Amino acid sequence: MDITTVTSYRAARTRADLALAPGEVVMAGGTWIMSEPQPHTTGLVDLTTLGWPDVEVSDEGLRIGATCTIARLLAWAEREAPADWTSLALARPSADALLASFKIWNTATVGGNVCQAFAAGAMIAFLSTLDATALVWTPEGGERRIAVADLVIDNAETSLAPGEVLRALDIPRRALTSRVGLQKIALAELGRSGAVVTARVDPDGSSVFVVTAAVRRPRVLRFARIPGAGELRDAVASATDFYTDPLGSADWRRGVSVVLAERLRAGFVREAAA
Ligand SMILES: Cc1cc2nc3c(=O)[nH]c(=O)nc-3n(C[C@H](O)[C@H](O)[C@H](O)COP(=O)(O)OP(=O)(O)OC[C@H]3O[C@@H](n4cnc5c(N)ncnc54)[C@H](O)[C@@H]3O)c2cc1C
Repeated sequence: MDITTVTSYRAARTRADLALAPGEVVMAGGTWIMSEPQPHTTGLVDLTTLGWPDVEVSDEGLRIGATCTIARLLAWAEREAPADWTSLALARPSADALLASFKIWNTATVGGNVCQAFAAGAMIAFLSTLDATALVWTPEGGERRIAVADLVIDNAETSLAPGEVLRALDIPRRALTSRVGLQKIALAELGRSGAVVTARVDPDGSSVFVVTAAVRRPRVLRFARIPGAGELRDAVASATDFYTDPLGSADWRRGVSVVLAERLRAGFVREAAA
């Protein structure tokens, strides 16, 4: 930890406390903020003291508070969630795709992971696949909603304007009772994912496939049914933002994304035939 420029800390208690002074940034779990120098940051405003509920169930579906930790979400999804919310089975494999130990899960928040917006964002894969929308508080006191997949506009970049705060993530009820799956690959066994493909098949047969980690921002592909192999391959391969870094080349990422998507597709087809 080397954040020597930070000279102030405030615990936010009300929305008014989220008005940021020059040099201040909001902090949730702090696992990324504390992990590298923040030369432009002079003050931290803690969101975890706002008392936002971790999870709220309503007729509309599931609301996850932005400050809910990844560990708390997993525990709730596996022990307390309605039994027919089968889509929540995607939460754990998504969290497993995060290159981080359970110690990070206990502190890192769902909202912090989304706002950090890494291409391999574990909660971004989970939430985008379940059609989650982000509830954003604007600095003037208003709010706006945007699909999580659209909030992320590039690797480590969101469309959040200065002073905007992610308040919650809403998963619609219609996306909670689906069949889901995740496939991933990394060059190193315990390395950061080079490609992650997640998918959901709804009770009406429509499907959603999402590519993350291999592309700079989530690529969401929707089909009125489970697509054919060629249709899915073409849809996945046609993304224009596969990228190269030390964890894999763009061509490799394109190729393995096609394979991972096909594994999911074939699994859904087998299940449907069984
Ligand atoms: C060892 C290690 C491994 C990691 N591996 C991965 C990985 O494989 N994949 C991956 O995606 N990430 C990875 N990360 C980074 C990860 O995204 C973050 O550590 C964590 O998810 C961020 O959550 P946090 O609550 O700690 O956020 P913080 O560190 O508190 O904040 C992260 C950023 O988001 C902003 N922010 C947080 N909450 C809000 C909010 N509600 N509204 C507006 N802005 C907000 C902060 O200002 C900051 O810019 C790793 C981190 C570590 C330390």
